[in-house]
Amino acid sequence: MFTSLSDRLTLTFKNLKRKGTVTESDLNATIRDIRLALLDADVALPVVKQFTQRIRDRALGAEVHQALNPAQQVVKIVNEELVEILGGSTRRLNLAKNPPTVIMLAGLQGSGKTTFAGKLAHLLKGEGHTPLLVAADLQRPNAVTQLEVVGERAGVPVFAPERGNVFGHDAALESGEGTRSFGDPVDVAVEGVEEARRKGYDVVIIDTAGRLAVDVDLMRQASDIRIETGAHEVLFVIDAMIGQAAVETAKAFADGVGITGSVLTKLDGDARGGAALSVATVTGQPILFASTGEGVKDIETFHPDRMASRILD
Ligand code: GDP
Repeated sequence: MFTSLSDRLTLTFKNLKRKGTVTESDLNATIRDIRLALLDADVALPVVKQFTQRIRDRALGAEVHQALNPAQQVVKIVNEELVEILGGSTRRLNLAKNPPTVIMLAGLQGSGKTTFAGKLAHLLKGEGHTPLLVAADLQRPNAVTQLEVVGERAGVPVFAPERGNVFGHDAALESGEGTRSFGDPVDVAVEGVEEARRKGYDVVIIDTAGRLAVDVDLMRQASDIRIETGAHEVLFVIDAMIGQAAVETAKAFADGVGITGSVLTKLDGDARGGAALSVATVTGQPILFASTGEGVKDIETFHPDRMASRILD
């Protein structure tokens, strides 16, 4: 991740640091380089504009730091603004005062929701919580089975609708190509929360259905699940590889479902980083976790400052 962006910014700053003083034209050239590097990394245009504008305003403003030379000051400003677009400070999970805490996952199909559900369950279990996974993705027949496999790996139970009700005996569904859903995902989610309350699980993680593209019906379903379960966290799961399409998708989920934060997946890949750098600004909500592999332990709390340092190193 970020290799190309990181190399480009390092080169830009190296050129700047060679100069004793920074003229306005040096600053303009630096900002132009930064803008191009961000655009090549697939960062969303409005985010790039906002970012470079803030750097220009601050660098031209009266920000004089005695201990730093002008070039170092520009680097410092870029670092601080990067932290800002990545969400500012680290945001922890919002746990309910009266358990169970309800955490709902939403996002496109293939974004890594189910895998992440297992990781989060495993992480919370390790912290002494008693999570329950809830299979509310009834769109794909395999999704329930997949969550059960994930739950087994994490050592966390899975609440799923009665198998007969979910799958029926429909050849298309059994071949994995069916699109009919059996049972109501909203009911399953609500029953999952009730089950947790009855049996004393303190966190409920709800896996919801996704589509390959933004879909009005699924958005409404996700929104209903959020409202009916009284979810404390609605985490938008986004594949870091998705590039420029990230903005549209993220905005659609933020507006259509109402999210409280995001999770970046596949940070172990060689994505250019655009989604990572755009999603917090576009949704107005912070990034809480990063997913860095397919294993149940490949999960990290997201720290904007550390991510910024990684990019500017
Ligand atoms: P869902 O459709 O949103 O539930 O997505 P899945 O959880 O099924 O994930 C889709 C694919 O991405 C699977 O093959 C996962 O193993 C893979 N995957 C999920 N998270 C990561 C990650 O952080 N890194 C990598 N390399 N692969 C991941």
